[in-house]
Amino acid sequence: MDRTTLTLDDLPGPPVEVPYASVTGGNAGPHLTVVAGVHGAEYTGMAALLRLIATLDARRLRGRLTVVPVLNQPAFWARTPFVVPVDGANLNRSFPGDPAGSYTEALAHGLFEAFIRPTDVLVDLHAGDLPEALEPFCLYEESPVQEQSRALALAYGTGHVVRQSRAARTVGGSTSAAAADIGVPAITAEIGANGICDPASVAGHLQGVLNVLASLGMLPGDVAVPVAAPVEHEGWVWLRSPVRGFWQAAVAVGADVRTGDVLGVLLDPWGAELHRVVAPADGVPLFLTSSPAVDADGLLLGLARA
Ligand SMILES: [Zn+2]
Repeated sequence: MDRTTLTLDDLPGPPVEVPYASVTGGNAGPHLTVVAGVHGAEYTGMAALLRLIATLDARRLRGRLTVVPVLNQPAFWARTPFVVPVDGANLNRSFPGDPAGSYTEALAHGLFEAFIRPTDVLVDLHAGDLPEALEPFCLYEESPVQEQSRALALAYGTGHVVRQSRAARTVGGSTSAAAADIGVPAITAEIGANGICDPASVAGHLQGVLNVLASLGMLPGDVAVPVAAPVEHEGWVWLRSPVRGFWQAAVAVGADVRTGDVLGVLLDPWGAELHRVVAPADGVPLFLTSSPAVDADGLLLGLARA
């Protein structure tokens, strides 16, 4: 693959250099762009893409493949979970961005124009960040290209897939939502937890990307592995804490929960119960804050609807 670097030097703050790799196969096919590191401490996808660049046999490729192992360079080097350290904003709430906006909005704009607008298909690799437990899942958006997006999610190989309707978008401004809005089929794929770069999760992401490449006809089918049909969820509920407290979860990610089940409690500084969190719907927690330190309005978990 060709190795190169995107330079964004017209940001309202420090310039950013984004190394990436690309290759065009000998036969016609779609342009797939795979990115990781939108959140700078979610390492499993980054490691998977470094391995993909090192091991891809480009002679077998149809179409064009662009691989961006670490999209959010400022967050990666600062080891900052969730946000861009320059201004504390979440890059994955900022797409398609704004060249005249804040630092993160301008960064999002530069990355969107360089990597998302020009592609035919987008796969964005995430994991549970430093304070997050996570059950592997893929997320796609309601859009005119949602069937192609769903096919990517089913090919990836995670046990759960969430469809997010436009009306119930818990997350606006994500890569996959902004891509879907301009007609680019896209998924967010999540494998790994707590900022740990464990080999099994890295392998899971790498195999997911190979499965997608095979499903698009860009690589021969022998690179794919058969995957079981995932549990598909229509939307989800993100639960936030009404109080600042010491969070003690009572459920694990991937567990089936019923409406009214206790999901955890928030304790006061002396250990007394401040607030009890109960499930507002039947579902499965796919990510869960594992750190006990939760501020008021802090995110506790994402409950995919049964
Ligand atoms: Zn993420």
